[in-house]
Amino acid sequence: MPQRVPVVENILNANDRLAEENRARIDSAGVFAINIMASPGAGKTSIIEQTLPRLKDKLRVAVVDGDIATSIDADRAAAAGAQAAIQVNTGGECHLDAVMLHGALDQLDLKQFDLLIVENVGNLVCPASFKLGTHKSILVASVPEGDDKPYKYPGMYRGVDALVINKVDLLPYIPFKMDYFQRGVEALNPGVITFPISCRTGEGLEAWIDWLLQNVIGKS
Ligand code: MG
Ligand code: ZN
Repeated sequence: MPQRVPVVENILNANDRLAEENRARIDSAGVFAINIMASPGAGKTSIIEQTLPRLKDKLRVAVVDGDIATSIDADRAAAAGAQAAIQVNTGGECHLDAVMLHGALDQLDLKQFDLLIVENVGNLVCPASFKLGTHKSILVASVPEGDDKPYKYPGMYRGVDALVINKVDLLPYIPFKMDYFQRGVEALNPGVITFPISCRTGEGLEAWIDWLLQNVIGKS
């Protein structure tokens, strides 16, 4: 039987090396970069849409959107005020990798920006395995997905630097037990900073924006 595990490891190592190169480019331009991950429909693009107007006149923001097809999300980011919005079509791949971000960075004059927001492909499994070179990873959970997701997709919850819980305005209508959800998160990622928000009502967004601003200021 052929031994296949080392092949996978080599691919990941090549990805990690390129992620380091991406990070060096981002750092030398003085940019703070985040990687937003979530299942499809959790609200990644909606959060970006709500975030951009709140950063207007404060930060210059570039958005890189990963999707299997279409430029719908980059169009939405541009309409919401991103100074640059690049769509990466993965051609079927269910995650972004460092090569794809590298190609997107080639299209950006990074020095023109303070913040780079990367929206990963909607997927709750493999985006966590592919480093991109961003500084912080953010996972967006949402109330309609159900309170069992930390238990079922531990890999995504384990490595992230911040957790956004979107659509909290739906809590009265959906059997989502917040303490059960948070116990699952705490077991995987103790003390992870968490932002319960609603893109529809705007609740909780101020704390999220403050955290972003603090990180960008800390970087510059
Ligand atoms: Mg999206
Ligand atoms: Zn994938």
